Amino acid sequence: MTFFIPSGKSLRWALPLLLLTACTDSNTSNTTHNKTVVQGEQPDILVQNMDTIVQPGDDFFQYANGGWIKGTPIPADETNYGIAQLVMEDLYTRKKTINEESVKADDPNDIQRKIGDFYTAANDTVAIEKGGIEPLREALTKINGIATPADVMMVSAYLHQMGVGVFFGEGAGQDAMNSAKMAYYLMQGGLGMPNRDYYLKTDARTSGIRTAYEGYIAQLLAASGTQDTAATRQRAKAVLALETKLAKISRSVEALRDPYANYNKMTVAGLQKTTPRINWQTTISGIGAANVDTVIVGQPEFYKALDGIVGSEPVAVLKDYLTFHTISDFAPYLTTALGDARFNFYGKAIRGAEAQRPRWKRVLDAQEDAMGEMVGQLFAEQYFDKNAKARYSDMVEKVREAYKVRIQKLDWMTDSTKAKALDKLARMTKKVGYPDKWKDFSAMQIGKKSYAENMMAAHRWWNNYSLSKLGKPVDRTEWDMTPQTYNAYYNPSNNEIVLPAGIFTVPGRMDASLDDGLVYGYAAASTIGHEITHGFDDEGRQYDADGNLKSWWTKKDEEEFKKRADVLANQFSNIVALDSTRINGRMTLGENLADLGGLLLGVDAFKMTQTYKENKPISGLYPMQRFFLGYSLGWLYQIRDAELANRLITDVHSPAKWRVNGPLPNVPEFYTAFKIQPGQKMYLPDSARVKLW
Ligand SMILES: [Zn+2]
Repeated sequence: MTFFIPSGKSLRWALPLLLLTACTDSNTSNTTHNKTVVQGEQPDILVQNMDTIVQPGDDFFQYANGGWIKGTPIPADETNYGIAQLVMEDLYTRKKTINEESVKADDPNDIQRKIGDFYTAANDTVAIEKGGIEPLREALTKINGIATPADVMMVSAYLHQMGVGVFFGEGAGQDAMNSAKMAYYLMQGGLGMPNRDYYLKTDARTSGIRTAYEGYIAQLLAASGTQDTAATRQRAKAVLALETKLAKISRSVEALRDPYANYNKMTVAGLQKTTPRINWQTTISGIGAANVDTVIVGQPEFYKALDGIVGSEPVAVLKDYLTFHTISDFAPYLTTALGDARFNFYGKAIRGAEAQRPRWKRVLDAQEDAMGEMVGQLFAEQYFDKNAKARYSDMVEKVREAYKVRIQKLDWMTDSTKAKALDKLARMTKKVGYPDKWKDFSAMQIGKKSYAENMMAAHRWWNNYSLSKLGKPVDRTEWDMTPQTYNAYYNPSNNEIVLPAGIFTVPGRMDASLDDGLVYGYAAASTIGHEITHGFDDEGRQYDADGNLKSWWTKKDEEEFKKRADVLANQFSNIVALDSTRINGRMTLGENLADLGGLLLGVDAFKMTQTYKENKPISGLYPMQRFFLGYSLGWLYQIRDAELANRLITDVHSPAKWRVNGPLPNVPEFYTAFKIQPGQKMYLPDSARVKLW
C-alpha cells in the first residue's frame, strides 16, 4: 500500500504518512469472500495456478497465474481480486479463532482475558442497542458545559485523549532532523472529510459528497438529542462552514509531502505569540504531554488562523462541531443506526462501497486498532513460530549480503557514496514476524460491559503510551504494524525494514510446508528486496544511516542513477496495458526500480541456500523455476478494465501483470531457468537490459 495507517494507534496527525513507505499492495479490498482452502492433502499451489498452454517466454504472468485466473471469476462487488484478498481472508479466520478460544479459555492470562472481554462486549448487540449514546455521556456533558473559547480548547484536549482529533493534529514522534530524540508535533487537522479538496472542489461528485456530509452531520446532531430537523439542518450547515474554514487554511496533499516545509521547530512560548487566544501550555498538558517547551509545528499559518477561528466563531457552532465529531468517531461501536449512518457517508458516499463488511470482521478491525499487538502475541505463537522467524531473519541477512556484494561491484557509483551506502545497509535494522519485546498492556482497561468504552479506554492508553515517550530516548525496537498485518514498510527515520508475519502468509498453507524456492520468490524478492532497495532510491537516499534527513549522494552518482533508471522508465512507457493506454513509466519508476532490485537481490539470496544448491525438482519444477513462480504468486491478481484504466493514471505501482512481466526480462536467471529464446515476446537482448544495481 502506498499509504497506510499504522494499526494500534489513534493516528491524529499526518507525519507518519510522510515518512513511511509501504508497497506490498495498493488494492486490498475490504469485502468478504469465502475461499476454498484444501485441508488435509495440499496440492502444490504453484502447479495449481499455472496455465501451461502459455509459453513462459511469451507471457510469464499468464503462465504462472493463468490457471487460477481462468477458474476464478472476479466477485461482483470487487473491482480487482487476488492474493491480498485471499491472504486477508485467511488472516481474518485466524484472528476469529484466537478470539473464540480466548472467550472460552478456562484460566485466561491477562491478554486472553482482554481479547475475550473485548470480543464479548463487541458482540453483545442487545446491550449496545439499549445503551444508545450513553457511553459518550461524560464527553457530551463536558461539551454542553462549554461557555468560552478557553473552555473549547480544554474540552478539545480532553477529546484528543480519547482519540477524537478535533481542530488540529498532534502527537509524539521521532524528530525528523534528530532521529535520536522524541518530539511533540502539532499538525494541521480537524477535518471530517479526507482532505481540503473535499471542501473546496466544485465538480458535481465533490459537491454531492458535501451535501451527503451535511446530511450526516445533521443526523448525528439529531442523535445527540434535538428533534427539530430544520434547525438541525441549519446547525449542520454551520458545522460544515466551520470545517470549510479549517480546509481553507490547510495545505494540499502535495504540499504536505515536502518534509522540510512541514518542519518548523519553535518554543511553545514562540508559538504562543502567534496565537494570543489559545493557551497552548494548558492545551498540550490537558492532552497529557508533560513538560513540553519545544514543539515542531507542521504548518504555522494553520495555527495562526485557527486562533482566529476558535476566538471568533459562535460558541454554539464550536460545540456542535465537537459533538458531531465525538459521536461520529464512536459511531461504529454504538447502535446499528449510528454505525450505518457512518458507513453510508464514509463507505458509500466517499469510497463507493456497496455493502459493509460483516459485523465480525468490523469487530476484528476495531480490535486490531485498539489492541492488535495483544492479538499478535497469540497469532505469532500459533502461526509464526520461532522456526518461521529464524527462516525469514536469515532470508533478510542473505538479501543484505547480496546487496552488499552488488554495491561493491557497481562500476558507476563513486567510492565515497559506496562507502556510505554500505554503511547504511549494514546498519539497517530488521524486524521480522513479531516484536522481540511486547508492549505492556496491563494498564489498558478492557471489560465485558461496553464496546465503545473499551475503544475509549484503548485510545486513552495509546495516548498515554505515546506521550510518555517524550523526553526519553527513542525506543527503536518498537513496531508500527501488528504481526498479523498483510503489509511491510521501510521506515527511513529508523533505517529499518519491518516485515510482519502476515506478509509471509501463503493462503491455506502453513509456513513449514513451503519450499525455499517459493518463499524466496514470494518474500525475499517481492517484499524484502523490494523494501530494502527503497532505502537507496531517490526517496530513501534523502535520509542517512542514522535516519536523519540528509542527502549523501554526489551529483555524479545521482546523474548515473538517473541515466540507468531511465532505461527502465522507457521500457515501461512502451508497455500497452489496456487498449491503447500505456503505463506511465515516469510515475511508476520508483516502484518498478524496487521490483527489479528486489528480484535481483532475491535471486542472489536464493542462490546462497541449500535448496538451490541441491537443485532437486519439486512437482517437476526446479528450484529457480519455483522462485520465479513464487514471485508471480505475490502478484496473483485480476482486475476489471475500468479499475485498470483508473489505476494507470493514479497508482504509482504498475499493474500486477507488469510487476511480473515488466522487470523479469532484465533478470539473467529468468532466461536460463525457463530457456527463454530470442523471438519470444519477453526476450530482451543484453544491451537493452537495465544495469543499475
Ligand atoms: Zn515499494
